Amino acid sequence: MNIHEYQGKEILRKYGVTVPNGKVAFSVEEAVEAAKELGTDVVVVKAQIHAGGRGKAGGVKVAKSLEEVREYASELLGKTLVTHQTGPEGKEVKRLLIEEGCDIKKEYYVGFVVDRATSRVVLMASEEGGTEIEEVAAKTPEKIFKEYIDPAVGLQPFQARRIAFNINIPKELVGQAVKFMLGLYQVFVEKDCSIAEINPLVVTGDGKVMALDAKLNFDSNALYRQKDVLEYRDLDEENPKEIEASKYDLSYIALDGNIGCMVNGAGLAMATMDIIKYYGGEPANFLDVGGGATAEKVTEAFKIILSDENVKGIFVNIFGGIMKCDVIAQGVVEATKQVGLTIPLVVRLEGTNVELGKKILEESGLNITSAESMADGAQKIVSLVK
Ligand code: ADP
Ligand code: MG
Repeated sequence: MNIHEYQGKEILRKYGVTVPNGKVAFSVEEAVEAAKELGTDVVVVKAQIHAGGRGKAGGVKVAKSLEEVREYASELLGKTLVTHQTGPEGKEVKRLLIEEGCDIKKEYYVGFVVDRATSRVVLMASEEGGTEIEEVAAKTPEKIFKEYIDPAVGLQPFQARRIAFNINIPKELVGQAVKFMLGLYQVFVEKDCSIAEINPLVVTGDGKVMALDAKLNFDSNALYRQKDVLEYRDLDEENPKEIEASKYDLSYIALDGNIGCMVNGAGLAMATMDIIKYYGGEPANFLDVGGGATAEKVTEAFKIILSDENVKGIFVNIFGGIMKCDVIAQGVVEATKQVGLTIPLVVRLEGTNVELGKKILEESGLNITSAESMADGAQKIVSLVK
């Protein structure tokens, strides 16, 4: 799960990680009010969306008076911001962070992520802050320094110190930078983060080390024990179909293609998307209905696929193990009864209760193309949507 920058900064503040003073605003009036309260000469108006790259896209504005705050706030609120992370459709700005302007001397990058190769949390840092870390990694990988963290002892001060020296934090500020990194690590671990990225971390004119941006991602599987984090969830930032799917505990990810997929098992779902692409089609979603899904759950899953107007055909690919083929068939029939079916449907069923499943589908009177194998099904649905 993702949260907004201002929310991330609230968490950081609680852990003693230095961030500039700031307030969230939902309207122009609130923005001006917040700027008055801050009382600094320079105020930064920052669009709050779940995507980075706002600076380059005009989503971060420096205001030198209350009039300018008003001007920028009215310009940004309600605007659809397109950054390199939002996709071409962009994201509508509904919240602003009004923050004190910071006298930046130099920008750095500091981030914690989970490294799959070593199964450890890794601290990454670079002197090249502000820009995309992916770009630094591609062009000048020698400018990224890493420290792998032993989970038994956590991030050690000597590791943080080594990073601070490697990225050339001024000597007199190394102590502050170390405290910063240790605090951020504590946030990462205690809040079950999957990413804690500060880009940029800055050194200021008056000798402070602070986080000017904050990107915190959380492991969704840990949210049951992170109630306060869950309160930060902003449904406006999420795909409505994915929200609907999460209510039924379905693993659903919306994609850009036009072939809806209903599959059981994450591996089979991945393979199904691959084979659709192999035969020249584009999947509209990833969907794993899971092992022990009920007919009701399958019905909802099928309805979610049907509600996607980009979907021009559906491929149901089920290998019945724990999941029984007749349950899938019932769900498909029930969903189409409720919302209708006007697009081609290809079904490949195999495994437990396959005969019963096929019988339910045959007797439903639905216009279904049955497939004998995955390859057969994929080829059929690809040609039907073309
Ligand atoms: P994004 O990563 O989405 O572009 P950032 O929060 O990193 O957004 O802001 C982009 C840039 O704007 C920063 O690199 C920094 O130069 C500038 N900036 C952001 N916040 C402030 C602030 N409070 N004071 C001064 N400059 C800021
Ligand atoms: Mg940034």
